[in-house]
Amino acid sequence: MRNSPGLSRRTILKGISAIPVAAALGPVRAQNRSKVIVIGAGLSGLNAALLLEEQGIDVQVIEGRSRVGGRVLSQRNVNGNPESGGTSFGPGYARLMDVCKRFKVGLIDVTPIVPFFNDRELVLDGKAIPKAEWPTHAKNPFPDGMKQLPPWAYLMPIIGKNNPLKTGDAWLDPANARYDISLHEWLVGLGVSEEVIELCWNNNPNHGTTAHDVSAMMVLFGHTFAMIQAQLGGKTFGYTATGGNQSIPEAMAGGLRKPVQFDRNVIGIRTAGSGAEVHCADGTVYKADHVICSMPMSVLRRVHIDPLIGGKQGLAINTLASQPINMVHLNIKRPFWEEDGRNPNIFSNGLAGMVVAERKGKAPQDITSLTVWIRGRNATWMDTMDEKAAVAAIMDDFYRVRPAARGKVEVAAYHSWYRDPFSAGDWALWAPGQVSAFASAVGNAHGRIHFCGEHTAVSNRGMEGAMESGERAAFEVLGLS
Ligand SMILES: Cc1cc2nc3c(=O)[nH]c(=O)nc-3n(C[C@H](O)[C@H](O)[C@H](O)COP(=O)(O)OP(=O)(O)OC[C@H]3O[C@@H](n4cnc5c(N)ncnc54)[C@H](O)[C@@H]3O)c2cc1C
Repeated sequence: MRNSPGLSRRTILKGISAIPVAAALGPVRAQNRSKVIVIGAGLSGLNAALLLEEQGIDVQVIEGRSRVGGRVLSQRNVNGNPESGGTSFGPGYARLMDVCKRFKVGLIDVTPIVPFFNDRELVLDGKAIPKAEWPTHAKNPFPDGMKQLPPWAYLMPIIGKNNPLKTGDAWLDPANARYDISLHEWLVGLGVSEEVIELCWNNNPNHGTTAHDVSAMMVLFGHTFAMIQAQLGGKTFGYTATGGNQSIPEAMAGGLRKPVQFDRNVIGIRTAGSGAEVHCADGTVYKADHVICSMPMSVLRRVHIDPLIGGKQGLAINTLASQPINMVHLNIKRPFWEEDGRNPNIFSNGLAGMVVAERKGKAPQDITSLTVWIRGRNATWMDTMDEKAAVAAIMDDFYRVRPAARGKVEVAAYHSWYRDPFSAGDWALWAPGQVSAFASAVGNAHGRIHFCGEHTAVSNRGMEGAMESGERAAFEVLGLS
């Protein structure tokens, strides 16, 4: 840090105050200089690095974990390599498809398993409701003519019919700001009842802990993106990668000239007129002309940035949340569903809210493992517990619903995305009002620090959003080099 011309003593002290003393004052173990440092070996950071290398730029990717992929995580110790993170992608994911082709990552068409995925057993308050009984069941809150629909298929057609966003980037258009209200408020405005919102959204939300804390704009953006993907995909729903989706970032990292440096937990980033510095918890300091940072906001807010970032972007860093999701992966010892004659897929309003029979064998009928998805309020509850207690609570609920499964499955993996220190949650969760407040500033460069990551994507979501954002950040740096 003493070798930092251009940084005033005041800024240095300000930086030191936020960095653990040992790291700030201890000997700098390595002085690493590159043209560009990329923080994070997820899809966005790796895409940025590959594009810069293609242009002959000297790039070093550093990563906090000891693996690449970030929120793409395939469980290789579970039968069939099920995904704990990025699950599938469509033919319209142009950038992701391109890297798969370039790095020869095999693709598995998941279209044949979609009908199996959509067929679930409904369990409310611990009791299974046979399909034939649902239309006339006392707990069915749907209006006449719609009562035959299962809860997981009811809301999307309503959202689709009323979605005003016609293009991928329309969510950022200030003319649409009136949709930056809670999903709950928007749905109630359409005449959707509280019981329907509770049953169809709050039990297993994709966005928010309930419909109250997510902006309708985000759900509408997600729907528009899905519709565009459906058009581009035609009859193909989507793919996973051979060996699990993690094979994609692994192949991308393998294509870099300079290997990714692992276990580099970034705790400070400093930018000045003459260059930028990245400080890691182990005392390593990296120097570069530019830094590309792919950390989610929920992690970035723990990192000291000097000079501080204020205004709309500062608000984004400090307040943009990430979706809570936890997963339990179960290996199957015996197919209990053949014994109790029930569907292995479950949608419930209990703790083990969604159980998915993974079909990663040769035929779509082959069930290779089970994945329990815990979302929304249930995920935030589980995040108050350590792994052992959370898994015990989830399995207790699962066995209550499916007594036949006891002794026939074994827990093979658990992942809480919130408790993961390098993610602190899953995809960015835009709360009501946040799109209007700071979406336009979230990916702005700050001096020599450039930002990527799915939360900064403009027209795409998920894995393709990550790829899009990495591309944008790389072009930004190239424009300045
Ligand atoms: C359960 C789940 C299901 C999903 N399903 C889908 C799906 O079906 N389709 C889809 O398209 N997308 C899906 N996604 C989303 C998709 O996986 C992500 O949007 C995408 O992978 C994000 O990539 P990224 O590069 O933006 O971020 P990340 O992958 O999070 O990359 C950021 C990197 O920065 C590193 N990092 C963080 N902090 C530090 C630090 N302090 N120091 C050093 N390194 C650090 C992280 O370890 C990570 O490698 C899903 C995600 C999850 C979790």
